[in-house]
Amino acid sequence: MRFISTRGQVDPVSFTEAVAIGLAPDGGLFLPESLPDISPRLAAWKNLSYAELCREFLALYATDVPTDVLERLIHRSYATFTHPDIAPLRKIDDRLYVLELFHGPTLAFKDFALQLLGNLYGWQCEQNGRSINVLGATSGDTGAAAIHGLLGKPRTAIFILYPDGRVSPLQERQMTCTGAANVHAIAIDGSFDDAQHLLKDIFANKTFAAQHQLSAVNSINIARVLAQSVYYLYAWLRLPESDRLNVEFVVPTGNFGNVFAGWLLQQMGVPIMGFKVATNRNDILHRLFTTAEYRSGPVHPSLAPSMDIQVASNFERFLYYALDENPTRVCAVMAQIKTTGAYRFDLLNKAVFSSSSATDEEITNIIRRVHERYRYIVDPHTACAFKDLNPQRVSIVLATAHPAKFPDAIQAATGQVPTAPALEELKSRPIIKHRLPAEAAAIKEFITKRAV
Ligand SMILES: *Cc1c(COP(=O)(O)O)cnc(C)c1O
Repeated sequence: MRFISTRGQVDPVSFTEAVAIGLAPDGGLFLPESLPDISPRLAAWKNLSYAELCREFLALYATDVPTDVLERLIHRSYATFTHPDIAPLRKIDDRLYVLELFHGPTLAFKDFALQLLGNLYGWQCEQNGRSINVLGATSGDTGAAAIHGLLGKPRTAIFILYPDGRVSPLQERQMTCTGAANVHAIAIDGSFDDAQHLLKDIFANKTFAAQHQLSAVNSINIARVLAQSVYYLYAWLRLPESDRLNVEFVVPTGNFGNVFAGWLLQQMGVPIMGFKVATNRNDILHRLFTTAEYRSGPVHPSLAPSMDIQVASNFERFLYYALDENPTRVCAVMAQIKTTGAYRFDLLNKAVFSSSSATDEEITNIIRRVHERYRYIVDPHTACAFKDLNPQRVSIVLATAHPAKFPDAIQAATGQVPTAPALEELKSRPIIKHRLPAEAAAIKEFITKRAV
């Protein structure tokens, strides 16, 4: 299988090349050259374990990774999860299921992709004898998941910049209490925007980036999307036959990465009825699916901070298919979005996508209501997905984070303080963080000293 860029200006590359490069050199995002029809295989895949299913599915795409290697990397990636089903599907009501995606090492769904990506990077370094220094800026979840993907891997180091005092205490502990020598959590004296600007400055210095084999943590790696398609497939296969043809996945959404992974699976022949895009008050995607206009706006802080996003970086992948797989049209539309901040679709497939947007007040009320009705606690991101469930459909709500990551919001809504052993254990470990000024020179000096 070869991978093409949404902007069509680069030659197709292999899976491992697409993973190593991340963003295509023409500024586009990688996608598989074609999507195999997996419908004839579904019956045979029904009883596979999560790791087995993942191997069968990824083998269709990672065709240049030897099968025994792929199998080993997948097993290693999901051995870090604490639930035997990896992604347990819980039925909580007659037409309502929750797919729990928070049993990985950082208790959020990003572990599904970043554990695998970390192992793929580690294998590539082993293969080519080179090393890699991963650099990223985070406001919380992504940084923690990326760190845990690379923890202790030979020939790799990871440097994560975050705004000192502005990530939650638990998120900070997830980044700073790992005890791993190749993890460097850098608390900068500034905001998340400052951290992102520093990152841009550092990558803009091409000599420095090349000298230290710097690579960016980003949400757009194609391996992340494909790794996420697997849990949609796993959940669908676990449904009773009677529910399968009427199911809608309800997905708490920020960058459109998670829900796109599900939609892509549908394009491979899995008969999923629909997807509901659940946003918080940052409603760019809700507006898109109700008005057919994509228009970015200012970001507002909310109780579901990992969805405080007003540009959806994976959206370009969807656009590619919506524009009949025509890269010239993708380039034109992306240019238009860049200059005007907006694009209006002539035709948007409303039969497949629906959407909702929840305010902070609604999030709190939903957490309380779900707890009262089902004795089940959802985190603030997952709560957004419970707004306006479609009574005509069987809904599978994707639970993207463990409630114990957001104890204050849960306590305010239910009076209870949820806990998780992984988080309790962190509290007894020393915090190792490096406080640095928000200056590129200081960060570069730090990286130079510790890069592998
Ligand atoms: C990252 C994140 C999201 C948003 O996922 P996207 O792929 O950006 O749509 C939702 N919930 C949680 C808990 C997250 O960490």
